[in-house]
Amino acid sequence: MSTTGDRRSAVAARQFSVTTRAHVAVDDATGESIGLDDVDVRVGWLLDLITAAGAELVSRLWQPATFDVLAAGLDRQDRRLPTQGHVAAARLGWTPIYPDGVHVPSRVSRVVTAQVVATLRTLAYRDTAIAALSARFDPATGRLTAPSEPGDSVPAGFARGVRRQLAARARRGGGVPGGRLRITDVQGSPRMAAMAQLSAADRQLAQLAVTGDELVLTVKLPTSPAPAGRAQWRSVRLIAAIPAHLYGREITDWHLPTLVLDRRGLLWRCAATELVPADDLESAAVAVGVDWSPSTLGAAAITAENPEGLVSDYRGWTYDDRGLGIKLARLQAEGQLLHGKAARLTRLAATAPPEVRAELEAKIVILDGHRTAVGIKRGKINRELAFHFGRQVTDYAAAAGAQVIAVEDLTTLETRGHGRVNNNRAAQSARRQAVAALAHTAAGVGIAVVFVPARGSSALCPGCDEPLARPGGYHDAWCPGCRVGGNRDHMAGVNLAKRALLGRSKVTRRRGQMPAVRVAEHAPVRRCRDKNGPTPGRARHRRVRRSLPAVTPWLGVNPKQHVPASQASVWDTVKPTPPHGDTGSRDTHTPLQSATRVADSMRSM
Ligand SMILES: [Zn+2]
Repeated sequence: MSTTGDRRSAVAARQFSVTTRAHVAVDDATGESIGLDDVDVRVGWLLDLITAAGAELVSRLWQPATFDVLAAGLDRQDRRLPTQGHVAAARLGWTPIYPDGVHVPSRVSRVVTAQVVATLRTLAYRDTAIAALSARFDPATGRLTAPSEPGDSVPAGFARGVRRQLAARARRGGGVPGGRLRITDVQGSPRMAAMAQLSAADRQLAQLAVTGDELVLTVKLPTSPAPAGRAQWRSVRLIAAIPAHLYGREITDWHLPTLVLDRRGLLWRCAATELVPADDLESAAVAVGVDWSPSTLGAAAITAENPEGLVSDYRGWTYDDRGLGIKLARLQAEGQLLHGKAARLTRLAATAPPEVRAELEAKIVILDGHRTAVGIKRGKINRELAFHFGRQVTDYAAAAGAQVIAVEDLTTLETRGHGRVNNNRAAQSARRQAVAALAHTAAGVGIAVVFVPARGSSALCPGCDEPLARPGGYHDAWCPGCRVGGNRDHMAGVNLAKRALLGRSKVTRRRGQMPAVRVAEHAPVRRCRDKNGPTPGRARHRRVRRSLPAVTPWLGVNPKQHVPASQASVWDTVKPTPPHGDTGSRDTHTPLQSATRVADSMRSM
């Protein structure tokens, strides 16, 4: 996402991506219609040509000299390498080779080299890290020694991965022990993704036009798996609908898509540029702070600045994930179980007689299939959760008139020491996805999302910066001095919003990263009773007849414990107390609530 600042018109351009599929295909020259299955087959041939040529080129370039060139960023005449991959490849003489007798347009070669250079450029970073870390790696202990030069530091998570890779290599006992290694010593050349990044090509290979609410892509596709000449590349016109959620958005430019094939056939991965209201971080006066919570992704609270200083109503809002978090945790456990089963069968198969081994291997294949399916499902739910969260937080912030949303800096968070299950549940990847979705959604209405330091946000009082008391346990917070308190996550939200307001003029912006406030400053946040935030939504499904005594919904931490039927429910407003054994009433049947209680009680242990 890029923003070009233009303060006067207060509009920013940003790029986003979206997927769509063609619903009509015709031959561009004759206008004859083509079946979509035939298009899938022909795109498959195109992707086969691209991946084969790409794989061959990468394996040819899989040597330290390639990474030296990319790390230096200079060609043989010491000129800077262009950022466009295919131009850089042409400069360096990296050209793909095709099988004899196969004709491939030069534009397809551009697509190949662009993809190859992009892959190698990301790996060049890894190569530098491997070279730095292997010099510090002790094969005897499997550990890294501390960096000697300050410039040698590598992000911790990345270093962990490389260390594992080096340890695995040391166990195999390959090559020279110790010393500076390169990426080509440690791993084989990567597989090429089967895709066609048309943006590297030009009008001769592909063009994109927009007509009304449809995208028209004209692209040359081969008519056989091994096209012998120019005549066997024919232009096809594909028509796809623009997704409905983009109607009414100010899209200024559509870029050529990347074509991939998935289970359902040809998928277009499109990028587009749109105009959104520019954010105005410097003059922000109302901020929303978002605190990550393990049970329900996040909670938020508002801090505002007025002439007298910082104020907050100390009333937070907790995101309701509609049970998706529990669902994800269940799928994760299921995936781990399947992995464990497959690993056990693999161990058994290693020593089993041939006929038993064949049987076990068939079972392993089935288990792996299930595991993949579970992974795909988790990915879909994660995405849905991320965008639902982004939408809800953005709506909350917009209703409060906030100009900035403060999010805990994920790199300063350590999610450890809560046991395997809860560490897993609080996995950073889901949050990273949620942050990206939130940043995207908030930018659409001109609200900036900034990272602020996480340290102490739920431990210190927003009013006086002293440690908070926990009168009601882990989830409760109270400051006896300032006489403010509430839910721990909401207090953290006030603190995070405060940090964003205090640090808004000292924001560091790095390319490709979210703006970040690096230092947590303190100024007292007074409690105000004026309404500066949206009224929290009322919990639904809790209607009980007031005239009847309220039923205690929860009697203990054991979810199996018997809870007596309530005296009233939403179903019996006309009839008196339901007959004995009515378990269909909503007051007695609260599985979601009990599930979150269990998760909470587990976490506080
Ligand atoms: Zn205080």
